Formats: sequence, C-alpha cells, structure tokens
Amino acid sequence: MTPVHRATVHNPAAPALALDAVTVTYGSVVALDRVSLTLKRGDHVAVVGPNGAGKSTLFHVIAGVIRPDSGTVRVYGSGPDGHICVGYVPQRARIDANFPVNVADVVMMGRAGRIGLLHRPGRADHAAVRAALAQVDMLDFTRRPIGALSGGQQQRVLLARALAQEAEILLLDEPLTGLDQPSQEALLATLNALRDQGITLLVATHDLNQAATRFPLVALVNRRLVGFGPPAQVLSAANLAGAFGSHVHVVHTTDGDLLVTDTCCDDPHPLPNAVVGRGAEAIALPGYEVEVDGERTKGRG
Ligand code: ADP
Ligand code: MG
Repeated sequence: MTPVHRATVHNPAAPALALDAVTVTYGSVVALDRVSLTLKRGDHVAVVGPNGAGKSTLFHVIAGVIRPDSGTVRVYGSGPDGHICVGYVPQRARIDANFPVNVADVVMMGRAGRIGLLHRPGRADHAAVRAALAQVDMLDFTRRPIGALSGGQQQRVLLARALAQEAEILLLDEPLTGLDQPSQEALLATLNALRDQGITLLVATHDLNQAATRFPLVALVNRRLVGFGPPAQVLSAANLAGAFGSHVHVVHTTDGDLLVTDTCCDDPHPLPNAVVGRGAEAIALPGYEVEVDGERTKGRG
C-alpha cells in the first residue's frame, strides 16, 4: 500500500522543535509575542501560564493549524505543514453522548495520514490502533461509543489517536484539567513512559505545582516566553510575577490548596503575600514565603 501523505523529511541533526521569534495576533490582540524556543528529541515540557496567556495558540502554530504573523516554526528542520509526526490533542471539549463513533474508529482516524484517502486500513493499522489503546490502558473500551466515556477516558482515547498516528511530537492542551486524582496519576504515568520512546512532549497546564514537581522542563508563557528550563530555575518569584501579573493563582494539590500571588514576600502579614499551602509540595517555589500547616518558611532558591 502506497501512502499518499506528503511525508516531510526529517533532518536528524535539526532540533525536534525550533520556534524563532514567533508572533501571533488576533486582530488587535497579541496572543504570542516573539516567542523563541528550541526543544530536542525527548524533551518533556510543561507549558504554564494564566488563562489567555497563549498556550493553546502556541500549540496551534506548532501543529500548523494557524500560521504565525511573523517568525518561524521548524519541526525537525522544516515547516509544520505536512508533518504527520505532530500529534495534537486539543483542550477538552465534551464529546456529545450520542456521537455515533466507537473508540477504535476514533483511534483509527489517527492512521488516516498514513493509510491514504482511497485505501482501507490494513492489518498493520489495526495493530497500531490496538497497541495505542493498550498504551493508554483503554483496550477494554474498543467497541464503546466515544460519547459514552468519561472525560478522562475520552482524553486517553484522543491520546491513543495521536500515538496511533506515530506522533513524535505530542501537544496535549490541558489534559489534566478536570480529571480526578487517580486519572491524573494514570495519565502522568503514561506520559512518563513516552519519554523512553523519545517522544517530545508539550503539556499545557495552569497547575504550577504539577509543572514544578512532575516535569523536567517548564516553559512559562504570558504572550512572551517568560522563562524556559528546569522548574526550580524558571518558577522564580520574579518570573511568576511577570507571568501572572496581578492574578492570584490557586493551585490545587493533594494536600490542599496553594495560593500564588504576585505581591512581595517581605510583608510580615501572612496573606496575600505568600504561597500558602499544606503538605511538602507547597514549598517548591523559590523566593516565596510558604505556610505549611501554620508554620512559615522561605521558599528555596
Ligand atoms: P490560553 O490557552 O493560554 O488560555 P489562548 O491561546 O487560548 O490562551 O488565547 C490567547 C489570547 O488570544 C487570548 O486573549 C484569547 O482571547 C485570544 N484568542 C485565542 N484564540 C482566538 C481567536 N480564534 N480569535 C480571537 N482571539 C483569540
Ligand atoms: Mg488554552
């Protein structure tokens, strides 16, 4: 079977992903402002920033869904158009309960670019669908209508679709938002396993704590790229203030809620000048004061 997709050749010497001064505007709104970012194969990055920071827009330009007003996006050395190696799982939209497509069909859609328009799926395609569903632990749901699944299960099926596509760069837009704790853990474990396969992963989240503790790299975005690197380096008080401005940000953790504010932490009063939380994870952010079960300490860094 001859694939009819326009395979874009990878330059193995080029970075998996390279954005250079990417600017995107919607009318008068500047959604991304000269964002430059280079990732190598296998990098796992949490993309964090407040609502409206441009996280989804960033994924759209990388997926080639929209073009930047200026600047360039390169996937293994060439433009994003025609790269079936980029898998994009959009921010969750609840799929209609009566949507008449079953789980296996949804995942098979990920094979479309490889099968070609006029061909039927072959044995290898069915095998790829099963392997992808196994990877996200959804094999038992193959024949279920997609609309009958929970939000977390739908998310896993959409991830399987991207895996069946044999995506090498995965863009997951807020996949953890709205999932219960066990589902979040299951998804994080699946994402960890992808690292061993050399899959480059970008995960948008507004959960700072999760970004800080569960991802080796963080890209902090607020139209500009405020910082990129290991969480301890990027999530400094100054960077968080730059990204979150006057917003107060509530971070839910297993041990309670964490408040991040942009105000200075030299103020002697406990709130709102501190990161406040319960549990060990509350102390991760450098430069902030932290209150853990009534005991205050300065954040490291
Ligand atoms: P995030 O995903 O971080 O919440 P978005 O990328 O969705 O941010 O949005 C960034 C900015 O661009 C916001 O101000 C948003 O209102 C605006 N925006 C996003 N998509 C569109 C669109 N299709 N048309 C007009 N404005 C948009
Ligand atoms: Mg978004």
